Amino acid sequence: MTRVSDIRYVSTRSMPPRSEGLTFDDVLLAGLAPDGGLFVPEPVPELAEHTGVGAGELTYAELAAAIMAPYVGGAVDYDDLVELVAEAYATFDHPDVCPLVALDDDHWLLELFHGPTFAFKDIALQVVARLFDHELERRDDRAMIVAATSGDTGSAAMEAVADRDRLDIVVLHPAGRTSEIQRRQMTTLEAPNVHAVAVDGTFDDCQDLVKAMFADEPFRAEMRLAAVNSINWARVAAQIVYYVWATRRLADDRPVTFCVPTGNFGNVLAGHYARRMGLPVGRLMIASNTNDILTRLIETGELAAHDVTPTLSPSMDIQISSNLERLLFELFEGDGKATAALLGQFRADGRVALSAQQHRRIRAEFAGDRLDDPETLDVMGRIHAESQMFIDPHTAVGVGVAQRRRRPGELVVSLATAHPAKFPEAVAHATGLEPESPPALAAVAGRPERCTSLPNRVDEVKDLVASVRRG
Ligand SMILES: *Cc1c(COP(=O)(O)O)cnc(C)c1O
Repeated sequence: MTRVSDIRYVSTRSMPPRSEGLTFDDVLLAGLAPDGGLFVPEPVPELAEHTGVGAGELTYAELAAAIMAPYVGGAVDYDDLVELVAEAYATFDHPDVCPLVALDDDHWLLELFHGPTFAFKDIALQVVARLFDHELERRDDRAMIVAATSGDTGSAAMEAVADRDRLDIVVLHPAGRTSEIQRRQMTTLEAPNVHAVAVDGTFDDCQDLVKAMFADEPFRAEMRLAAVNSINWARVAAQIVYYVWATRRLADDRPVTFCVPTGNFGNVLAGHYARRMGLPVGRLMIASNTNDILTRLIETGELAAHDVTPTLSPSMDIQISSNLERLLFELFEGDGKATAALLGQFRADGRVALSAQQHRRIRAEFAGDRLDDPETLDVMGRIHAESQMFIDPHTAVGVGVAQRRRRPGELVVSLATAHPAKFPEAVAHATGLEPESPPALAAVAGRPERCTSLPNRVDEVKDLVASVRRG
């Protein structure tokens, strides 16, 4: 039995015996471990009885507080956590928060796009920004979040930080290289503490600018810089909840296989943790677009980098999935040195092989497959023809992989990670029709934009950060 106070977080690059570890609040604010590793919980808590399948009804927010409580430990009072989580999910436009919709008898869609920015990033970020605010209040401190975005993360983070007392946020995006909707979601927010910056450069330039700011220790300390990127453990913890939610709702005797449109491996990793907590999860299917490093890993046991190809599902256009390090640490049985060595070799050579035993273990727990853009459009068109339902290209990659890989009698939940109206061109191309926009998404078209344009120069970006920071 795991008691609330028992959980500690250790780095994926540390070695046993690990008597010491950090608590949730430190891990929340730090993001990355000082040795460059990612934090993982030790031990992994078991699902509490009242959150299990077949136990009584709970609202999504009640379930979320119960699942997150052992991970948060003593860092937040349980009553405060309940309130904070309820507030976070009150921003969603569906009473179920993450509703299930049937595709056929044994295949369901779990809609994760009912938050303020209509992509699944809201589910974690709405909670994480409030946890930040709560902890900074306790420490009587502030933070300035800086981030680079090519799409969904920027607006979800800005929306979550808007009007939080102790936080400011500056999000850099490459000028002219995000979709119109994505840009407007960032530039039309009316809050004094959120700032969109269009950088004259690429997404990589934006990321380099953020890295350069974090690398400047005096600047970092003076500005109280912080990050909310997908390696932050708190984001993974918040994402475990909807796996439990869906399984409870289906209340089926069979284990549930989840199919997850995957980029940085944060979403599917949460499913893996739900399984480790004792949830009856069947297979976890990793769905990729043509940027298929994870599918190839499952097929060959080798991690091999390719160049990134732009696709219709841009949030899955990645070269290496940052959260994979947490799974590798497990495959190395908690040997942080071996984990770091493997990743070092990958960085140096662009490819590295797992052992036969590690490869077997991955194949036992995960399946993977890929869809290219024409196949993705084909799935979108077919789902619309069969059920008059619009799905976005990320969701379609998952649905296509699930349909191809499911076994007879297998119960499958495909995660729907973005609202189709966020990708109207792809939907129109696939179906000949425009999906209807939710009013809150349609409204961004008419609002005035507020955005600072800057050259790709770190001194100018730093000046801006310093000038907008409050208090
Ligand atoms: C971020 C994102 C993904 C990928 O999720 P990961 O946690 O990075 O694997 C998939 N679809 C959409 C719409 C996203 O925004």
